[in-house]
Amino acid sequence: MGLEERAALVTGASRGIGRAAALALARAGAKVAVNYSTNEEAARRVVDEIAQGGGEAFAVQGDVSRSEDSARMVSEVLGRYGRLDILVNNAGIARDNLLLRLSEDSWDAVLDTNLKGVYNCLRAAARPMLKQRFGRVVNVASVAGLMASPGQANYSAAKAGVIALTRTLARELGSRNITVNAVAPGFIDTDMTRELSAEAREAYLKRIALERFGRPEEVAEVIVFLASPAAGYITGQTVVVDGGLSI
Ligand code: NAP
Repeated sequence: MGLEERAALVTGASRGIGRAAALALARAGAKVAVNYSTNEEAARRVVDEIAQGGGEAFAVQGDVSRSEDSARMVSEVLGRYGRLDILVNNAGIARDNLLLRLSEDSWDAVLDTNLKGVYNCLRAAARPMLKQRFGRVVNVASVAGLMASPGQANYSAAKAGVIALTRTLARELGSRNITVNAVAPGFIDTDMTRELSAEAREAYLKRIALERFGRPEEVAEVIVFLASPAAGYITGQTVVVDGGLSI
């Protein structure tokens, strides 16, 4: 995929889709900063796996909902690799509930991590990317940001915000050769979806054209593509990776 000499930061890379994206970017030749929030051991395992495959990576702690953490993470990448070419805004959480039971805390936690976190990291990363006149940003949204998702008012609002932010920043940053795209996964088999009840999983399965859940690696391949030279003329887009869930 031609990502040699590129430096990447993947948020929420200790597990799930972020982990798969970090591994796939490293396989494509990029050096990768593996961000985690609390799960240091899992992040170290990802770094080890990348090193075992002959790649280069380091783990960086930081809570994306905190602007100072996001700025520090970007500084650490610049300190280590001297540049930041690829930013994958993947860190995310879900706190599902129907509106009347949806607490203000759950609303704030999801908006702060899933939407403000993207703003925080992009704001920190934009400066070095503008200077380099090169950047590839991939935001991990969700089909919940494109279609109704009962029980996920906070999550779907945040993800719709990410899709809008993607389009707007693609326009703002395009003149400096920075592309900003999003992926919108459907139901991917990770810790996040393993928390759902058997009934909820079954109900999703019935709606998926390919009749199976997605694998984190299937989202990661699209992230790598959007960061690669092959996608150099694509910006402001949201690529749906959902096995036909939303059609
Ligand atoms: P996951 O398995 O639950 O992993 C979440 C990752 O995010 C972990 O690495 C976690 O770090 C990190 N994280 C959480 N809060 C953070 C914060 N404040 N700062 C930095 N890192 C934080 O989730 P996933 O299913 O892979 O989801 C990844 C992304 O895909 C999310 O944005 C999610 O909304 C989106 N998505 C997932 C699905 C799906 O079906 N799974 C579908 C659509 C979209 P720790 O390990 O340190 O806790």
